[in-house]
Amino acid sequence: MSLLSSTAGWVTEEHSLFADEASKFLDVELKPQIEKWANNGVVERSFWKKAGEMGLMGGSVQEEFGGSGGDISFDAITAYLQAAKGDAGWGYGIQSIVIHYINAYGSDEQKAKWLPQLVNGEKIAALAMTEPNCGSDLQAIKTHAEKDGNQYKINGSKTFITNGGSADLICLAAKTDPSEGSKGISLLMVETDNLEGFRRGTPLKKVGMKGNDTAELFFENVKIPQTNLLGSEEGKGFYQLMKQLPWERLYIGIAGLGAADCALDETIKYVKERKAFGKRVFDFQNTKFKLAELKTKVEVTRSFINDCIQKLMSEELDAATASMAKYWGSQIQGEVLDECVQLHGGYGFMAEYPVARMWTDARVQKIYGGTNEIMKELIARSLDI
Ligand SMILES: Cc1cc2nc3c(=O)[nH]c(=O)nc-3n(C[C@H](O)[C@H](O)[C@H](O)COP(=O)(O)OP(=O)(O)OC[C@H]3O[C@@H](n4cnc5c(N)ncnc54)[C@H](O)[C@@H]3O)c2cc1C
Repeated sequence: MSLLSSTAGWVTEEHSLFADEASKFLDVELKPQIEKWANNGVVERSFWKKAGEMGLMGGSVQEEFGGSGGDISFDAITAYLQAAKGDAGWGYGIQSIVIHYINAYGSDEQKAKWLPQLVNGEKIAALAMTEPNCGSDLQAIKTHAEKDGNQYKINGSKTFITNGGSADLICLAAKTDPSEGSKGISLLMVETDNLEGFRRGTPLKKVGMKGNDTAELFFENVKIPQTNLLGSEEGKGFYQLMKQLPWERLYIGIAGLGAADCALDETIKYVKERKAFGKRVFDFQNTKFKLAELKTKVEVTRSFINDCIQKLMSEELDAATASMAKYWGSQIQGEVLDECVQLHGGYGFMAEYPVARMWTDARVQKIYGGTNEIMKELIARSLDI
């Protein structure tokens, strides 16, 4: 597996074994379904359960909460492999991020209640921050959770929520103190089963990432127990989100690398088979130079991403470097996919070709998880101290 470059110091035999097994599983259970998921707009629950049984989602969760007791590097492998198989529909990234929130801030009761079901794929998670009127400016969210006896009463709406159509457990960013900006935000865990006042919008029609049931969510006097506050104090949500962002951002960079690897492999295969002017498309100097440029960009990115994984494992990955990983990984993914489509000629624009779908999937990587402009703001901030 290419993510595990031989020079990456974090790779052990255990990682290689996990990667081999996961790769075989994804070849059989994920790859043949990508097209179907894109057409149906959703990944079947049966796949989530199989992935859970395979241990793909609990690599970094303690054994007592259903995981295999490793660390975040196992999640990095799953993230890479999903993208390297050409998929962007399965919402594993968000599942993993929510698992990490619960792991980091949940009480033992909360961990025991939610982690095993997320790890084994019985429950699907969503992370709901963005609202119709604000995405980048998270402090401006309006969704309000007010105390009501021993419950919270929630009113508001969220949009663009990955896994929103099927999520059983939503990690919701809401204002528990609307008079405050970032200090008024809390994270609440919302269990959606038979939840009065909760509604999902019709699935959003997207230009890419079509296999995911991205949705709008509506909360009208929705009541949840106060014990579903994540962490012991209200008003810590913004801090909790910021603290976990390095993983979320690196995740996007890792997925970018995986997708770029996949597209490059597909394209090298294609140009060796396709003939024009009596020779292989591969044999034109332009093709060879383009492929050489892309390969170089991908390998440079791989080194940086591996370095970031190593830093994340030792808790040294700072916000600016994680922002670089998100910005760079998604930027290179976009550049690689665009050239790969070009090298496929007209077939690169046909939906049945993986590069065409991957090209449309790639675009959003520069937008979600904090736009690349916001990433550059954060990187620049670190240069002004
Ligand atoms: C497919 C998809 C899945 C998503 N999944 C989720 C999810 O699961 N959970 C969730 O909460 N959200 C999710 N999002 C939302 C995503 O995170 C936001 O769309 C993103 O953060 C940008 O917010 P916005 O759309 O409101 O754009 P805006 O914030 O309105 O930005 C518009 C433009 O202005 C620029 N801009 C804004 N502020 C600045 C600034 N300070 N400096 C320079 N430029 C700036 C932006 O970079 C962008 O180009 C998803 C989005 C998509 C498309």
